[in-house]
Amino acid sequence: MIPVTKTFLPPIEEYIHYLEKIWESNQLTNNGPLVQELEAKLKNYLGVKHLFFVSNGTIALQIAIKALDLKGEVITTPFSYVATTSSLVWEGCQPVFVDIDPHTLCIDSNLIEAAITEKTTGILTTHVYGIPCDVERIQAIAKNHGLKVLYDAAHTFGGKYQGKAIVSYGDVATLSFHATKLFHTVEGGAIVTDDDDIAHRINYMRNFGHKGQEDFWGLGINGKNSEFHAAMGLCVLPHVPEIISARNKISNWYDEKLDFSNLSRFVLPGGTRFNYGYFPVIFPSEMELLEVKKRMNAQNIFPRRYFYPSLENLPYISDQYCPVSESISRRILCLPLYYGLYEDQVTKISQLINTQ
Ligand SMILES: *Cc1c(COP(=O)(O)O)cnc(C)c1O
Repeated sequence: MIPVTKTFLPPIEEYIHYLEKIWESNQLTNNGPLVQELEAKLKNYLGVKHLFFVSNGTIALQIAIKALDLKGEVITTPFSYVATTSSLVWEGCQPVFVDIDPHTLCIDSNLIEAAITEKTTGILTTHVYGIPCDVERIQAIAKNHGLKVLYDAAHTFGGKYQGKAIVSYGDVATLSFHATKLFHTVEGGAIVTDDDDIAHRINYMRNFGHKGQEDFWGLGINGKNSEFHAAMGLCVLPHVPEIISARNKISNWYDEKLDFSNLSRFVLPGGTRFNYGYFPVIFPSEMELLEVKKRMNAQNIFPRRYFYPSLENLPYISDQYCPVSESISRRILCLPLYYGLYEDQVTKISQLINTQ
């Protein structure tokens, strides 16, 4: 069976080495030494000033929304994982969907200004599949209108734009380290910012608002992560270059073997160093996608419809229309892509798509 993705597991001895450290310290959570070590290494790897390791990518978004004081209307993308939208609604914000660019699949920056009202407080959008948004234009719009920018950078680990980690753009950006992501800590995530004030708020918010044992800075939640999760991250991080180059190689095989006369792909903005996190292909129609998916499933191959449905269609969202996102989300399919996928498997998958 070939799934859409398969978690990278480091050699077990490497994990045992960290388990021994946990048994020595007897500290399992509450900002222990491995959490601190992972945060330091991630800050260094990504080249960012502040980074908070949290329990998942969704709580990262929710804490970031609170730390930026987003309320009222927030402009967002309809083409992402559901957590981008649900976090806004969970935090009491109203998502205002702006359609996507058909080439980059990220929010169409030409359409943002028309969606701004006196109730708008910020923009929360996703570098979908690790493709960077139009960050310069979004920054300029936000500055003109006094809005905060929060990026859901869950797909960007290891990716760069104009020489900087994609996650370093925006007032705040969040990562997911879920087991299905390129870099993972089993479950986990991070909040990244260069702003000292916002970092100060996040630091308290992540830990119930505790300021010492008996004092409270303000409202907080439990966003902490454990030593066991940090240990997995410390084991996987040194393998990231090898993971990215394996994914690059596999993506090149798809590029060679797939017949693109009937398929289209996204376009990367110039200046992007891609992390090869996903391999989505866009079919001419939903019917063709469903047909290919059925054919693959019959051979025990399980591509995924990332991202369907378009998020303006969620049952708790009313009356918003994003025709580009609606159309692409029906026709886009992510092909299997993971460390350890063989060339003959890529050949087989490509043949199943090519013979239509
Ligand atoms: C995976 C993902 C999330 C959620 O992350 P979790 O760690 O699973 O909570 C949020 N946004 C996007 C775009 C994702 O792909």
